[in-house]
Amino acid sequence: MTEKERIELANLLYPNITNSVDYYEKRYPKRDLPEGAMVTRYAPSPTGSVHLGNLLSAFADMVYAKQSGGSFYLRIEDTDQKRMMEGGIENITSVLHDFDIIPNEGYSFGGKYDPYIQSQRTEIYQTYIKDLIIRGYAYPCFMTEEEIQNIREEQEINKTKIGIYGVYAVDRDLSLDEVKEKLANNEEYVIRLKSPGDANNEIEIVDCIKGKMKFPEHNVDTVLLKKDGTPTYHFAHAIDDHLMHTTHVIRGDEWVSSLPLHYQLFQLLGFEPVKYAHIAPITIKDQETGNIRKISKRKDPWFGVKYYDENGIPIEALHLYLATITNTNFEEWYLNHSDQSIDNFEFKFEKQAIGGTSFDEAKLVNLCKTYFSRKSGKEVYEETLNWAKKHDTDYAKLLEENKEDMIQFLGIEKDGPRPRKDISKYCEVKEEFSYAIDSLFKEENYKKYDGDKTYDTKLVEDYIDNYLDLEVDNDTWFNTVKEFAVKNGYAASPKDYKKNPEDYKGHVGDICEAIRVMITGRLKSPDLYSIMKILGKNKIKERIEMYKNVCNL
Ligand code: GLU
Repeated sequence: MTEKERIELANLLYPNITNSVDYYEKRYPKRDLPEGAMVTRYAPSPTGSVHLGNLLSAFADMVYAKQSGGSFYLRIEDTDQKRMMEGGIENITSVLHDFDIIPNEGYSFGGKYDPYIQSQRTEIYQTYIKDLIIRGYAYPCFMTEEEIQNIREEQEINKTKIGIYGVYAVDRDLSLDEVKEKLANNEEYVIRLKSPGDANNEIEIVDCIKGKMKFPEHNVDTVLLKKDGTPTYHFAHAIDDHLMHTTHVIRGDEWVSSLPLHYQLFQLLGFEPVKYAHIAPITIKDQETGNIRKISKRKDPWFGVKYYDENGIPIEALHLYLATITNTNFEEWYLNHSDQSIDNFEFKFEKQAIGGTSFDEAKLVNLCKTYFSRKSGKEVYEETLNWAKKHDTDYAKLLEENKEDMIQFLGIEKDGPRPRKDISKYCEVKEEFSYAIDSLFKEENYKKYDGDKTYDTKLVEDYIDNYLDLEVDNDTWFNTVKEFAVKNGYAASPKDYKKNPEDYKGHVGDICEAIRVMITGRLKSPDLYSIMKILGKNKIKERIEMYKNVCNL
């Protein structure tokens, strides 16, 4: 076709598209940002629920943009209307809010480069398609599904590259009259790229994470606009990331194989290339097979982000965990700078694992424990209450009714150089502090402790009635327990006991253990004297009675 014919064709196909490419180039001007500022985007398709991998890429988008003084935006890629999940878009925005990964701009956040949802950008895509048709780089293709399937089968038999290219691209050179005839017959069509590439040529693309990669040049007439006039991912990616002035496309590495196509599209459209950073998937060692595999929706509870919310993993701890996956040197930095905010760490693409990072639950749990250990009793109380209001309303009510005591319990052993490290999730508070709320403390608590001993209630009662003073300091208290131990034939220390076990009934630790089990139902707890102080003598006595009942003493 001559240029004149191509113009006629473009107008015939898109009579309603009257804006020019220039119009959009002016409508979306370059961003006024300092040198080196990164513009990143989280571009999810609302086709399924958000998972850890999505969160990881959104987190990376956020930190790279933030630390470079750039912008991080949310773009909804809803071009696949058939696979849209009901409520999928709302789910994406609420997950970002819940996990504190807040874009600077984008869908539902506003911004100058709107609309940030692809279903509202059809006119823009069609304007650029019109331009490509006029310039001879795109054409309508009327091939039927059946024809394409036949070609595919033939290619599979011949073991040649799959796709519409070269001799297979039969509609590439239709004349204007032929196209008109097909249109008159109402034949359906897609718009394909008229790829000028030659697969014998090699191109080199540098990925920010994976480094230099070589590919054969793209030579397939890939579909750019579907039959319904909406774009494919590839075309929308080129147009949107160009017009929204993305500098770094951070995305899952399932897109690496599309790079030659994307590279060609940017060239043909005359766009400045974007930089790519392809993130490898999060992997895990399969329990059954022992093989390393991608984390999966079906097999791994921590795949979906719901897990983190429902179990009460603190957001800040999850951010720390995502940071350890984002940069391999983060963890070491954090160990030395754990009093600092993540914002003080400089993320670098070179420090991103190329081959994928395996999900490490122990690491996540440990980061969570560190997080909790640094929070005051009041902070842990408030955060747990917020979590419980959403996930365990009965417990939330009890927390509110027992506020003062609860803050004190949660604040035990927080001040020293090695603060308590027991809780890793909000959902554990109820169980770990099961003795803290009187109305929750039931007889079955005694059945949970893993010891098999029955303790001497008479001895403990004697101690509580005649020796326990709740007004002294911790050292004085412990000295009286020791004196009491010695008076009753127990060693004052485990060391003394070990030297001559036959001389003693046990040691002071055994007495403390007996008290602990009777008042908390547990073999381990934070500082015993602090617990006794908060409970007070009456409750301590009530619990001993309860213990006697359970043990039939
Ligand atoms: N919508 C694409 C997806 O969800 C986004 C890929 C990208 O970030 O470019 O896989």
